[in-house]
Amino acid sequence: MNKGNLLQELEIYRSFIQYSDILFSFHSINGDFSYVSPTSDPLLGYKPEELLDTSLFDYSHPSDRKKLKDICSSQSYERVKYRFCRKEGDYIWLETTLIPYCESNEPKGFSTISRNVTNQIATEAQLEENKEMYRLLVENFQDTVGIITKSGHWIYINDTAKKLFGVTRKEEVVGKSIFDFIFPASHGEVRRQLMQNGINGTFELTVSRHDGLKKYVQVKLIPTIYKERETFQILIRDLTEQKKAEEIMHRTEKLSVVGQLAAGIAHEIRNPLTAIKGFTQLLKKEDHNDYLEVMLNELERIEDIVSDLLILAKPQPSKLEEVDIGILLEDTVDLFRSEAILHNVEIKLDIDLGDSLIKGESNKLKQVFINLLKNAIEAMPNGGGITVSAIRTSNGEIMTKVKDEGMGIPEERIPNLGEPFYSTKEKGTGLGLMICNRIIKNHGGTISIESKINEGTTISVILPAFSPSKTPANIK
Ligand code: ADP
Ligand code: MG
Repeated sequence: MNKGNLLQELEIYRSFIQYSDILFSFHSINGDFSYVSPTSDPLLGYKPEELLDTSLFDYSHPSDRKKLKDICSSQSYERVKYRFCRKEGDYIWLETTLIPYCESNEPKGFSTISRNVTNQIATEAQLEENKEMYRLLVENFQDTVGIITKSGHWIYINDTAKKLFGVTRKEEVVGKSIFDFIFPASHGEVRRQLMQNGINGTFELTVSRHDGLKKYVQVKLIPTIYKERETFQILIRDLTEQKKAEEIMHRTEKLSVVGQLAAGIAHEIRNPLTAIKGFTQLLKKEDHNDYLEVMLNELERIEDIVSDLLILAKPQPSKLEEVDIGILLEDTVDLFRSEAILHNVEIKLDIDLGDSLIKGESNKLKQVFINLLKNAIEAMPNGGGITVSAIRTSNGEIMTKVKDEGMGIPEERIPNLGEPFYSTKEKGTGLGLMICNRIIKNHGGTISIESKINEGTTISVILPAFSPSKTPANIK
């Protein structure tokens, strides 16, 4: 393109450009203005003649100057964004198209067409800032946030999701199906919700992780368009801890209701019982009837049961004594000798406690082992062996175990044991283990259950040992 033609075109531009917000300029090879359109005045604050023979590069922001110079000397048609210092001293962003021109293959200069893009850049910066802010918010949100396709495949997950699903990288989830991460029992519900566009609000399901952990979650699906596809935004709240707390509360509530109930009943029964027992004793004095002896024995048993029920109520004033667990276990096992023979059960004792004692109530502790031995015998309808052992642990505690070879307890039932009235027996009360738990807890100990179906059950009771030499009461 020669200079004549260019100037002719320039004239056309000039009349057009005069009234637009586009700046047109013409430069020598070193950047000096040789023509500036009148729009320089509103745009840059300079009248065109003020700019003539000054260099474009001197007005550019120092950080943009090198980039601008490089492009201008590259002699190629290019577009560049740079900051121009207005006469008032402030910078505006220009988007400039540079058009080089040569004469006989000699670079002679360049022309520019520029547009003010300050607002656009400010908006872009704002958008970038917002994007970063939203990214931080979403990634660190306390709930899992994700996007899934209509078929339930993960497109996006936030950082919190990694914790929920137990993965270290997002790639372990993205691209996979949501059904790979949830319990089969919850599949139907998720399918229904996907089909109904999640309009039913929130729903709950169980997440099953590869490490075997289960998580109870609340899910909300929100239909949304992502990259021009119909998708769902998915919000997942982890309710596992909340559920656990609720369960404990539920159980505690149930326990306290049973406790009150038991105390009430025991109280009501005690009075008539005392009267009946008194009169039976009187009758026995007058008439040596054998039946009266049996009746008295049975009445004493009822009295014992009633006092057991009272254990379930608020803590009783207790008579603490030094108890030799070894002797207590021997006595308890002796009580069961005849019953064991009847059920074809052999009970072995394996006690290695030295002179260890514990401080507690021997009657109540005896009740614990009576309940445990009773359960062990009942777990072996065809007979078998029971081992009752006791050792002193390295922590100075006393650990006793009642081990049977019975039917065992299914793993999922173990958490229910000790709940009032939880019994799998036709004539069971489901109070035995609950009473054990209560007594052992009151003695500062713990009970744990290990069981294998058809192999047997071991119930361990750990109690703090008592060392006479260390208690202040014994220092004379
Ligand atoms: P109950 O004996 O009246 O049923 P417990 O509280 O003593 O009530 O026991 C609750 C349940 O725990 C029993 O019904 C039984 O299913 C289970 N269980 C307890 N001990 C054993 C054991 N040694 N072997 C198998 N199951 C047991
Ligand atoms: Mg029982």
